[in-house]
Amino acid sequence: MPIATKLKQAAPLAAKSSFVPGCLTLCAIRGDTSDPLTARAFTAPERQYRNAFQRDRERIVQARAFRRLAGKTQVFTTGGSDHFRSRLTHTIEVSQIARNVAQALGLNEDLAEALALVHDIGHPPFGHAGERALDRCLRRHGLSFDHNLHALRIVEHFELRYAAHRGLNLTLGVREGIIKHSRDYTKAQHPDLAEYFLDLRQPLEAQLIDLADEIAYLTADLDDGIDSGMLQLGDVLENVDILNRCYNKVEHEHVGVEPKYLLHEALQLMMHALSDDLIHQIAQTTLAAGINSLEGVRAQPERIAALSPAMELERRSEKRYLYESLYTSEILTREHERAETVVTELFDYWMADPERLPASYYAECSDNGAPRIITDYIAGMTDNFILEQYKLYEAAK
Ligand code: MG
Repeated sequence: MPIATKLKQAAPLAAKSSFVPGCLTLCAIRGDTSDPLTARAFTAPERQYRNAFQRDRERIVQARAFRRLAGKTQVFTTGGSDHFRSRLTHTIEVSQIARNVAQALGLNEDLAEALALVHDIGHPPFGHAGERALDRCLRRHGLSFDHNLHALRIVEHFELRYAAHRGLNLTLGVREGIIKHSRDYTKAQHPDLAEYFLDLRQPLEAQLIDLADEIAYLTADLDDGIDSGMLQLGDVLENVDILNRCYNKVEHEHVGVEPKYLLHEALQLMMHALSDDLIHQIAQTTLAAGINSLEGVRAQPERIAALSPAMELERRSEKRYLYESLYTSEILTREHERAETVVTELFDYWMADPERLPASYYAECSDNGAPRIITDYIAGMTDNFILEQYKLYEAAK
């Protein structure tokens, strides 16, 4: 790309002075006791010092599926180094960004935080490779795997922590945000999800999670990629324009400092530039369209939350680079193939004789069908646990 075009497209790194903090308060989810989005399937006593979404945050953080995120791959296998992100540390990074964006705009921070903390709870072991393998296995039985819908199954059915009901009994607002995290379903596709306002746009708190997720991993994957030695700093700076501009800025400010510290500063700057851009763009789009209520947000034909056009170009270009240089690199491709073999062979092993499943899972096969229950079992596993199961399976072959 010619340098002139590059410069014209470059998104600004600094905040816009015209931005008014809290400008979208009128579009925020109220979250008070009369708000229908705080409704739960089962009655739960009020708590004096915690609102409904703060309580959901606690319910999520105390869930076993949340704790297991510590043992699930984000991009790099969790056993590779103690320094790489796991799905849990990624989740914490997303929640920081989501909370910051929501707070700046005057949206409901507690809802945004709860949604960020739960956004990856439905991910199987081995990241996207595990998800692809499970989906392929299910498709042979006329079903499919979707981590958003699986997350809903976890919070509604699998978590057993309360005396009076199965599941976490989360508010309607959080459950709606879970299923609308990264996809928009139609009523025709999913009549079973009718209570989640499928013909209405999700609130801004839910819309921003997908982008907070992107901002977190676009920054973190460069960091872990370089740390792992799979990406070289020089190559990254040559190919990721936004990081290059951030790096040049911090290099001027900190002459003679080692590149690894400059990189960390540059990544921080890049993350702030992306987050600030998201904040400004959501505010600008919403205010320019004259939207000043939740109903106004819900009536929009498309999601409002997006990066500015200039930053969106930067995001796409970086994502392309990460795909080509990291996600589809020889090392990760080999790891993904291995992960897919492990998932597929174990799935087939349990399909051949579902009685080999733990008794509690086997008992559910008659109602839900073995393919779905085996998927539930596998999807809940950490990377280490599924590898142990695979060893046992190989020994028994
Ligand atoms: Mg994520």
